[in-house]
Amino acid sequence: MTLADINKRIQTCRKCRLWQNTKHPVPGEGPANAELMLVGQNPGAEEDKTGKPFVGRAGKFLNKVLAENGIRREEVFITNLVKHLSPENRKPLPDEIEACAPYVEEQIKTIKPRIVMLMGKVAWQTPRVKGVIYVETYHPSAAMRFTKMRKRFLEDFKALKKLL
Ligand code: URA
Repeated sequence: MTLADINKRIQTCRKCRLWQNTKHPVPGEGPANAELMLVGQNPGAEEDKTGKPFVGRAGKFLNKVLAENGIRREEVFITNLVKHLSPENRKPLPDEIEACAPYVEEQIKTIKPRIVMLMGKVAWQTPRVKGVIYVETYHPSAAMRFTKMRKRFLEDFKALKKLL
């Protein structure tokens, strides 16, 4: 399967209720041969408007942390475990996660990154693919808000850079 095939399926996905109140699905973006993949929870309002992942406040913070560590965003495949915005930006429900998880799994199997960084508790539920290194950190929104989490998030990105 190619990324285009996976995108097509996401575009027309009706496996859960989330698509109903959205403008765009957000399949993710980045090179098809990325060595590093970042996975978040699900798109927010800005991402829903544009169809692109991490373009709102959390995305700007993430861009800054990537740049500080000499990681070029254009070289990273950035996506979310759940591909649609949720009502009032609530956490995705277990059945929504279950319905959407095969997409990120297919993306990982297709891209075959060396490392997948899972950002936040929801993203930690991403299916594991054999041979791939998974690293868990906090969600950038949490890291922006809470000092302790920010410290850990920054340390995790520093360690990630060393792994690359
Ligand atoms: N938060 C996420 O988890 N993903 C996005 O794409 C934007 C905000």
